[in-house]
Amino acid sequence: MKINLYRNDLPDGLKLAPIVAIDTETLGLNPHRDRLCLAQLSSGDGVCHAVQFAPGAYDAPNLKRLLADPATLKLFHYARFDVAVFRQYLGVLTTPIYCTKIASKLVRTYTDRHGLKDLVKELLNVDLSKEQQSSDWGAEVLSERQLAYAANDVAYLHRLKDALDGMLAREGRSELAAACFGFLPARALLDLAGWPDLDIFAH
Ligand code: MN
Repeated sequence: MKINLYRNDLPDGLKLAPIVAIDTETLGLNPHRDRLCLAQLSSGDGVCHAVQFAPGAYDAPNLKRLLADPATLKLFHYARFDVAVFRQYLGVLTTPIYCTKIASKLVRTYTDRHGLKDLVKELLNVDLSKEQQSSDWGAEVLSERQLAYAANDVAYLHRLKDALDGMLAREGRSELAAACFGFLPARALLDLAGWPDLDIFAH
């Protein structure tokens, strides 16, 4: 995958597709503690646009506009985390959203393996390496291997969406999926506000 690396924001005038695959890399899994280091975006055309953030440099007007743009569908795997991270660091609530993990849970009821690596293997027959997952994403200079890994996380999301949309339609669960995606911004806000483990619908 070709990688374009930018500092602190997307460049002015960058044209992306109506469906943009997005992933983030952070210093860890706690959005309150672990800062946003990298945001990877792809139109599904084999090009990854990667925005590397210096500590505290979260102005990013172009990225924020894209995340809030109602005409651009933001495609994630486990959107809940990335949406919380974007809210915490950029102050923007991402919408509209499609999440391949939720789609997978709604149709691949024959398994409990809903990781990106599992999905890509089963639906696309591609082996995805997760080897650089736990590396230092706060480094000032990211390695070629880190960037290649980061780009790979957005490389297959469009194809996964196509496969999952077919399965959702087949099982009559497309509307249910859309409703779940619609709740994701609120789910991310609950996570940040101190209810990460709460099922708000439980008795
Ligand atoms: Mn990733």
